[in-house]
Amino acid sequence: MNVKGNLIEIEASIEEACKQFGRDRSNVQIIAVTKYVSIDRTIEAVEAGITHLGESRDDGLLKKWDELNHKVAWHFIGSLQTKKVKKIIDKVDYIHSLDRLSLAEEIHKRSSKQINCFVQVNVSGEESKHGIHSNEVIDFIHKMKDFPNIRVVGLMTMAPFTEDQQVIRECFRNLRLLSLDVQALTLPYAPCLELSMGMSNDFEIAVEEGATFLRIGTSLVGKEF
Ligand SMILES: *Cc1c(COP(=O)(O)O)cnc(C)c1O
Repeated sequence: MNVKGNLIEIEASIEEACKQFGRDRSNVQIIAVTKYVSIDRTIEAVEAGITHLGESRDDGLLKKWDELNHKVAWHFIGSLQTKKVKKIIDKVDYIHSLDRLSLAEEIHKRSSKQINCFVQVNVSGEESKHGIHSNEVIDFIHKMKDFPNIRVVGLMTMAPFTEDQQVIRECFRNLRLLSLDVQALTLPYAPCLELSMGMSNDFEIAVEEGATFLRIGTSLVGKEF
């Protein structure tokens, strides 16, 4: 397990996808997802050049934050329980899992500044998935005007669990189309220019379909627990 080596390989794939699809590499940000690894492995990632870290649990975030807070940007990527908001809100730069009004209300209430949020979308409509259904996203985003501490920087999704690359591609493509619909509203609190999509197994497709933030765990930092 060598984070630097993994990063070099991932970087090459991202550059290739950018080149083929006419994208500027500087518009794609890697978030190293460290939920399955220790602080030591996380430090190794930062030393390898990672500047954005993602965690999906409050305790994981707090531990790593204490060690590394000033060195990186912090992303909360997992489903977020309303009662956990106050523990993490001052520590995170982005929340990727805004998926209900009660959560928006709590983020707004607990934060002293604007928080960059991604609205999580259940593009595939699978029962088991978190996120707002595509046809409800526009309504939901309009409602964010009541919560001035929420800034909708973009949309986030997780691809369906399948080997079928075409199905994954459609999912990412639909998220991008939806983000264009939101952009067209020109809401000051919802610029919606970012797309958080792509994980270890599908980040190349995500780059091809317009991802601006990739959430990469296992293939970058491995899995220790
Ligand atoms: C764990 C997780 C990831 C990273 O998954 P890998 O397959 O390990 O790259 C990305 N996004 C979310 C929301 C996650 O919970």
